[in-house]
Amino acid sequence: MIVILKQNHDRQKLEEFRRWLEAQSLMIHESVGMHSTILGLVGDTSRVDESLIEALDIVEAVRRVSEPYKMANRKFHPLDTVADIGGAAVGGGHFAVMAGPCSVESHDQLCCVAEAVKAAGANILRGGAFKPRTSPYAFQGMRESGIELLLEARRVTGLPIVTEIMDLQHLDSFADVDLIQVGARNMQNFELLKELGHSRKPVLLKRGLSSTIQEWLMSAEYIMAGGNENVILCERGIRTFETATRNTLDVSAIPVIKELSHLPVIIDPSHATGVARYVKPLALAAAAAGADGLMIEVHNDPAKAMCDGPQSLTPAQFSDMMGSVSAILGAREQAL
Ligand code: PEP
Ligand code: MN
Repeated sequence: MIVILKQNHDRQKLEEFRRWLEAQSLMIHESVGMHSTILGLVGDTSRVDESLIEALDIVEAVRRVSEPYKMANRKFHPLDTVADIGGAAVGGGHFAVMAGPCSVESHDQLCCVAEAVKAAGANILRGGAFKPRTSPYAFQGMRESGIELLLEARRVTGLPIVTEIMDLQHLDSFADVDLIQVGARNMQNFELLKELGHSRKPVLLKRGLSSTIQEWLMSAEYIMAGGNENVILCERGIRTFETATRNTLDVSAIPVIKELSHLPVIIDPSHATGVARYVKPLALAAAAAGADGLMIEVHNDPAKAMCDGPQSLTPAQFSDMMGSVSAILGAREQAL
């Protein structure tokens, strides 16, 4: 349920109203905009009498929100959320580029890629330390020592870091990570989402391989219901009948999410296609369609990468892509 307050409402009366709502075990989410203030009520609102609220002289209107996600709903929070990732803003007109190798492999590999992506304009460094691999025989990641190398690369380059958590038991190792990634395979690991909801760390929530947009927003809701509102959504391709690409990039998720939610949404064309030469055109499509950022896999020597080499750009290809993305962003600003 959302309650739209009258402009210049009496603060004292609002405080009384808040206490009355809290006494009914409702969580209140206040969103102050330029022209109106909105209270989003979360919890069991089925027994709340709308007409009583409507009758209050501080209230302009009351509306029930039919969608099952509340905190993630744009109706609760009309303005775009801007996430702060170690100094890098994402959302609300701030475009972020997260780039780096699929997996952290060594000090030299990570530092070489980190310097290169920074020089090309990336503002967040990615790198997998705990890797979700389809085969148990494939490289599983450097684990804790991979996170150490990411922290070192951050010291050297100043870039904030994003890396994937696969299991709650590793949470302590993520204490200094700027943005915790929940991968596609864990999008509905509800215990993990709940625990991340209790942390104050920003979370990058990837869309599950076969998840609908509503299911994805419900997973964001799990994190937000715990009190952590720093969620960024990442579309990374979904399973379809098409086999020419690894997955099918759902570009339409961008305008749909923008309409339904206030959360930033970024695009990962690397995992969506699995093919390096398709990454640039889809990165441009994402920028043009209104995405808040990109996640791109870059490797200094893709042919020797321990994971996802075929979809990884070289530093030179990444730099070329960044030039074109900037041109699209400039055009996007003028087209608005
Ligand atoms: C990744 O970003 O390294 C990754 C494994 O992505 P996804 O969860 O989208 O497959
Ligand atoms: Mn990868």
